[in-house]
Amino acid sequence: MTRVRLAPSPTGTLHIGTARTAVFNWLFARHENGSFLLRIEDTDKERSKPEYTQNILEGLQWLGIDWDEEPVIQSERITEHRNAIQTLLDRGLAYRCYASEGELETMRENQKSAKQAPRYDNRHRNLTPDQEAAFQAEGREAVIRFRIDDDAEIRWADLVRGPMSWRGADLGGDMVVARRAPFDQIGDPLYNLVVVVDDAAMNITHVIRGEDHIANTAKQLLLYAALDLPLPTFAHAPLILNAEGRKLSKRDGVTSINEFRDMGYTAEAIANYMTLLGWSVPEGMEERFTLKDAAAVFDFDRVNKAGARFDWDKLNWLNSQVLHALPAEMLLQDLKPLWLDQNWNLPESPGWTLDLCRLLGPSLTLLKDGVEQAEPFFLCPEMEEDGRQQLEVDGARTAIARLLEKLETSPWTGEDSEEGKMLLADAAKAAGVKKGVVMKTLRAALLGRLQGPDLITTWSLLARIGQDLPRLRRCLD
Ligand code: GLU
Repeated sequence: MTRVRLAPSPTGTLHIGTARTAVFNWLFARHENGSFLLRIEDTDKERSKPEYTQNILEGLQWLGIDWDEEPVIQSERITEHRNAIQTLLDRGLAYRCYASEGELETMRENQKSAKQAPRYDNRHRNLTPDQEAAFQAEGREAVIRFRIDDDAEIRWADLVRGPMSWRGADLGGDMVVARRAPFDQIGDPLYNLVVVVDDAAMNITHVIRGEDHIANTAKQLLLYAALDLPLPTFAHAPLILNAEGRKLSKRDGVTSINEFRDMGYTAEAIANYMTLLGWSVPEGMEERFTLKDAAAVFDFDRVNKAGARFDWDKLNWLNSQVLHALPAEMLLQDLKPLWLDQNWNLPESPGWTLDLCRLLGPSLTLLKDGVEQAEPFFLCPEMEEDGRQQLEVDGARTAIARLLEKLETSPWTGEDSEEGKMLLADAAKAAGVKKGVVMKTLRAALLGRLQGPDLITTWSLLARIGQDLPRLRRCLD
């Protein structure tokens, strides 16, 4: 039974990298009919905040990523973590290191001036009982370090990257597994140790995470062996890069899922796009898909090794595809709160707002375009330069005057579009201009400019709320 997990640290809002890792885990779990679990890694007490946990869970739900069991809270498992460290100490695989921060700093500086890579030089690995007693008598605190033999060979078959190998010597020396604490205690357990203990306890079969964790995987494999725990399979997804090919970071502007949402991206488009950040569709499959579609065919053979460049054009394209295909009822659900935020009065008739969604839907790229484009339907727009010029065209005002004359005796209800078209033809004839001139002029009158959605539908919507006549009148003032 496949069991995977996402292990976010609640030290910030849901980041696109974490969300993409969530997507890959979820797709794999669903493809394998397995379980997708969550573990909140809140052991960094200073930086972890409950509101970040909330943000992460809400972001995942928004994206359509559901989980199968109650999330595990890492900080509640500290006893198990300490027990594992005790086991390592008992087996002689870990030891207390009494080196002070200052001594470690001097060590690193010496390495730097000798042009060596910084690493812990394992100086307290083999202290004699007398040496230990002397440090303790000085009142020194200690960290606990796990032994990493320089000649250890670490190998695994990565589902994305293929055969991997690391040498113990490249892991920075014996690794700290518990923070500094009085020498008779076990300080706070650290990331690599707790992840191994928790993944094993949760029976995780596949650890799927970003490539930035590869060196951690090497260390964790040593811990699995030291603690006699069964090994999971590992898959390291490529990093998400910016347009310049560097790791996407806060400096690139948007990185949090809620920021994408606030910018007007739909959950469907973001989930779709994140899947494409590193995974390519099998032949014959469209690039526009739902997570469910992707789960049916997802495997790691189609996950690329190379970093995935973030491409705004593609995301925008996907978002427009999603919005264009959205039924008006659903689009209205998304747009209504945004319209109400603007303090616009929505007409009573629900049919009117639905028709407005039908009109605007096909031209939206971002949801918030549906605010900008809806504005002239709720507020009388200013006359812009191109609109003003159109009114100066020969016959333009005459046509508007004729339209008004007709409408004032018998207003158009906006129901029958044929009637609207006939009114336009009549105005063109009366003013002695082409129908195109009347149409452009009407658009200028109604919207204040020459760009906009389908004219007859625009007019019909405004007519239905009695907003066409005042706008026509102001052109003649
Ligand atoms: N808490 C770690 C992170 O957010 C988890 C990494 C892992 O999946 O082991 O990067």
